Amino acid sequence: MTEPVRVRFAPSPTGKPHVGNIRTAMYDWIFARHTGGKFILRIEDTDVARKKEGALEAIMESLKWLGLDWDEGPDVGGDYGPYFQSQRLELYKAAAERLVAQGDAYYCYCSPERLEALRKEQEARKQLSGYDRSCRNLSPQERAAKEAAGIRPVVRFKTPEQGQTSFHDLIYGDVVFENNTLDDFVMLKSDGYPVYHLASVVDDHAMKITHVIRDEGWISSVPRHLLIYKALGYEPPQYVHHPVIVGADRAKLSKRHGAVSLLDFRDIGYLPETMFNFLTLIGWSLDDKTEIMTREQIVKNFSIERMGKTGAFFNTDKLDWMNGVYIRGLTVEDLSDKLLPFLDKYLPPEIKRPLDVNYVKQIVPLIRERINTLKDAAAYADFFFVDKLEHDASKLVDKKMDAETALTALKSAEETLSSLENFDRDELENTLRPLADDLGIKAGQLFSVLRVATTARDATPPLFETMAVLGKERCLKRIKAAISRLNNHRD
Ligand code: GLU
Repeated sequence: MTEPVRVRFAPSPTGKPHVGNIRTAMYDWIFARHTGGKFILRIEDTDVARKKEGALEAIMESLKWLGLDWDEGPDVGGDYGPYFQSQRLELYKAAAERLVAQGDAYYCYCSPERLEALRKEQEARKQLSGYDRSCRNLSPQERAAKEAAGIRPVVRFKTPEQGQTSFHDLIYGDVVFENNTLDDFVMLKSDGYPVYHLASVVDDHAMKITHVIRDEGWISSVPRHLLIYKALGYEPPQYVHHPVIVGADRAKLSKRHGAVSLLDFRDIGYLPETMFNFLTLIGWSLDDKTEIMTREQIVKNFSIERMGKTGAFFNTDKLDWMNGVYIRGLTVEDLSDKLLPFLDKYLPPEIKRPLDVNYVKQIVPLIRERINTLKDAAAYADFFFVDKLEHDASKLVDKKMDAETALTALKSAEETLSSLENFDRDELENTLRPLADDLGIKAGQLFSVLRVATTARDATPPLFETMAVLGKERCLKRIKAAISRLNNHRD
C-alpha cells in the first residue's frame, strides 16, 4: 500500500502573497483533496530580516478567500507541529550537528569580509562564485583557536566535488546536476537559524511530506536538498515543479503587469470562483477545450500528468471574460450583496450613503451583462445614483435633430410621462412609441434624446427598463434639467 498523500504549502511571511504562490497552494490543495490526502500549511519564518508585519494574516486570508482549507497548520495544529519554522529551531540544529558529527558537514569560521573578498576575486577572474572550502579541513587545533577567539561558526554541508545528483520531476522529467557546480553551502547560520535548504528538508521529512509541489524557481535547490536527505538517511519526496506565471511579455508576472497579489484581484472584484478556475487552468487542463469548471469538477479530474511544462501565461482578457461568466451565474440577490461594498467604495462621495439595497437589486439585472468585475459597476452605473446630471447639450441634440425638435420632444415627453400611473417598462414603451409618431420624428430619435436626458449618456442598458428603475420622479426631474440646459444653450 502506498502512503497517504501529504502536501505542504510553505510560504515565507514576507508580504501580500503573489498570485503565483497562491496558485502553488491551490495545486497542493487540489491534489490533496483529489487523493484524499492532507494539505498542510507551514510558515517558513526563519529569515527574520524579510519577515513583514501582517504577512501571515494576508497568507491565511488569501487561502480562506479561495476556499483552500488546511488540515494541519499554525492555527489548527496537527500531529507534526509546531507549524512555524521559528518554533522548530532545535530540530534544525540537531540535524546540523548530526551531519557534522558524521563528517557530512563542518563548522566554518570565515568572516563576512573574507567571503566578500573571495567573491570579488572570483568575479575578477571570471570564476564560478562559491565558497572555497577553506574551513573544510581545519585541524582540531585550528578549530579550537577559532573557538577560543570567540568566533561563532556557521555549519556548511560537505558537498561532493565529483559526480552528479539527479532526480525525476513529475513534470520536468529527469533533471541532472553536476556536483562540482554546487559549493559547500551554509545550512545553519552563526545565530543558530537554519537556511531554507536545511529547514525545508528537516520539515518535509518530519511532516511526512510525500509530494513537494512548487514553482520551477526551486528546481536548482533540489540537488542540495537531495544531498542532505542522503546524508541524513531520509527518503526524499516526489518533486512536482511547475512553470511560473508570466505576463503578455513572457516575463514573470510582476507589479509592472498590474495586480499581482491574490488580494489585489479580490479588491478589484474578481470572484473567488473565477480565480480558482482561472488559476488552475494556467498550467493544468482537463482537455483542450473545457474552460468553465466548478471546484468539484477540478478536484475530481485533477492529475499531475496533465500539468504543463510551458505556457503558464496570465491572460487578463480571459480572466475578465471568465469573471463575467461567473458574475452572470450569480442570482440577483447574491450579486447585489457582492456589489454593495464595491458601489459603496467607488461611487462618487456626494452620493448619499448607505445605498438603498432594494434599488441596487433593481439595477443589477440591467448591468450584469456589461460588467466584468465588481469594481466596474460603479463607473457603469453611477448615473442611477447621482443627484444631478451634467448634461452635454451637444449630445442632447444629436442624431439629425435640431435643438428646436429636441426641445419639443423633451417637453412633450415630460408632459406625457408626468401623467403615467405605473411607470413600468411596458407602459413606457406603449406611451413613448406613439409619442414619436405624434411628434413626426423617428422612435429612435426620441429614445436617443430621452436616453441622454435621463442618464447623460448615449450608451446605457435598455431605455425603458432603465427609466422604470430610475422612477418617475427622477426621470421627470432629469428631463426638466435637460430642457433648461437646452434652453440656455440655445440662448
Ligand atoms: N519558503 C519557500 C517560499 O517562500 C518555500 C519553497 C518550497 O516550497 O520549498 O516559497
